[in-house]
Amino acid sequence: MKRPHAVLCVYSAVIPFLAAGFRPGLFNGWFPAWSRVISALMSKITSPVPFPLAELAAYAAIIAFPAYWAASFIRRRDFRRAGRVTLVWASSVAAAFVWFWGLNYFCAPPSARMGLSPAPVTVETLISTAVYYRDGLNAAYTPYASDFRELSRAIAGGFNSLSERYGFISPNPAPPKRLTFGTVQSYLGISGVYLPWTGEACVVGDTPPPHLPATMAHEMAHRQGVGHEDEASFIGILACLESEHPFTRYSGMFYAFIHLSNAVLRNDRDAYAELWKDLDRRVIEDRIAMSLHYAKYEGPVSDAGRAVNDTYLKAMQQPEGARRYGLVVDLLIAHRAAAG
Ligand SMILES: [Zn+2]
Repeated sequence: MKRPHAVLCVYSAVIPFLAAGFRPGLFNGWFPAWSRVISALMSKITSPVPFPLAELAAYAAIIAFPAYWAASFIRRRDFRRAGRVTLVWASSVAAAFVWFWGLNYFCAPPSARMGLSPAPVTVETLISTAVYYRDGLNAAYTPYASDFRELSRAIAGGFNSLSERYGFISPNPAPPKRLTFGTVQSYLGISGVYLPWTGEACVVGDTPPPHLPATMAHEMAHRQGVGHEDEASFIGILACLESEHPFTRYSGMFYAFIHLSNAVLRNDRDAYAELWKDLDRRVIEDRIAMSLHYAKYEGPVSDAGRAVNDTYLKAMQQPEGARRYGLVVDLLIAHRAAAG
């Protein structure tokens, strides 16, 4: 492995990030359009494989690199060579991430392209939006009687509907996939992940049903070139609500309401109690079941996983870190205000 290769790989990963950081909007002409093209292409290529290829590759690398270094140590090989090999692989993976998808973090988000401008709102506006979604959630309630494939088709239908209205949404998305080692992700406090190297939108298979379609749609929104977490949740919720599938619509309402009611709790405890008082008993049972499910995985490992995710998000132009997920509330309020 020649040294110039290693230097080139590192530069191709680092320079675009630095350039975009110094000049915001530098890649606006190419992203997310380019990212949507490459992501759609990769997802079409990898979708016939029923499991996430990039997840498998990640676990293979976790085993292979320590083994490679151990072999170098035992055979007293040139460690500088082993270092360069590792650097080339790591920086190639980073460069592919940057050029396939990572630069979306520096570009105009979907809400800006929709003309929405989330602004500070009053607690009254927050509560009235939460009441709107609470009533919608009560009306949308339907028991879970579906499967992963049917939900995938339903969400794709939602994205198709959005694509007719918004030019930055591509129609006919490939279905998401279930993570092979989803239990590991659950213990890390992560219910889904988008793998841009292969265009695979992945979720934990045993995600509680009311949370499942919205999580699938969130990861599929990332594949549409949506970088920021609140924006991915927002587009995912819209895709769910556009679907003709009743349970998928229920999931979109459920996801939106949970975020809104959490925001109400932070601002007005009495209003929060009032909000839940008039919630359908069956929805409350779904919420309790979801909390009990995630409680099984709580512990130091999930704390560590969330800390890593928080650090990653802060490094990716999201100074709020994991709190960014909750900012979907601002987008929901702005969207409702724009709808009139
Ligand atoms: Zn996400």
